[in-house]
Amino acid sequence: MPGFYNKTACCALLAIMLLMACSSNHVSSSRVVVLIPLGNFPQKNANQLASELKKFHSKVILSKAQPFPKTAYNESRKRYRADKLIAYLKNFGNADTVILGLSTFDISTTKNQHADWGVMGLGYQPGAACVISTWRLNKTNLQNQLLKVAVHELGHTQGLPHCKVNSCYMRDAGGKNPLDEETGFCDKCKTYLNKQGWL
Ligand SMILES: [Zn+2]
Ligand SMILES: [Zn+2]
Repeated sequence: MPGFYNKTACCALLAIMLLMACSSNHVSSSRVVVLIPLGNFPQKNANQLASELKKFHSKVILSKAQPFPKTAYNESRKRYRADKLIAYLKNFGNADTVILGLSTFDISTTKNQHADWGVMGLGYQPGAACVISTWRLNKTNLQNQLLKVAVHELGHTQGLPHCKVNSCYMRDAGGKNPLDEETGFCDKCKTYLNKQGWL
């Protein structure tokens, strides 16, 4: 029955072509995540983070380190302004990228009545760049916490707001470090990120 086999082969080929078309559209709609270590951020941590982020996004690049911009330094608090770091980091990207800056120094922003509020990371919703710091993370499981902060801030850049689910990566830290209670993106956040070409 050659006719039968030919038809099957043809259908299978069409299905594969359709799948390829869908997956390529899927990927091209999402931006490349570019990691930029700031100052002396350890290469080992940056490398590991880049490879772990590939579980969330297909296109992740670790770029060369850049110096901290002096204008972002808050001398009295001995830390860097996260908003100024984001403005600086944007210069290293383009319309097809989202930049993730990596800092070992503490970083801060203005939050409500707090003029200089220390944070684990900052990302605008949506945004072209975000920045994270190891300063406030548990040193015993630093890499695990670093990944959680990274996907949280990258989630903001994709347009995700904070999430009420306590185990969700998009939970608001609220000035504490609840990262060990987070186990993944909740279904709602996951569905949103899927549409952006993530996960
Ligand atoms: Zn947040
Ligand atoms: Zn969520």
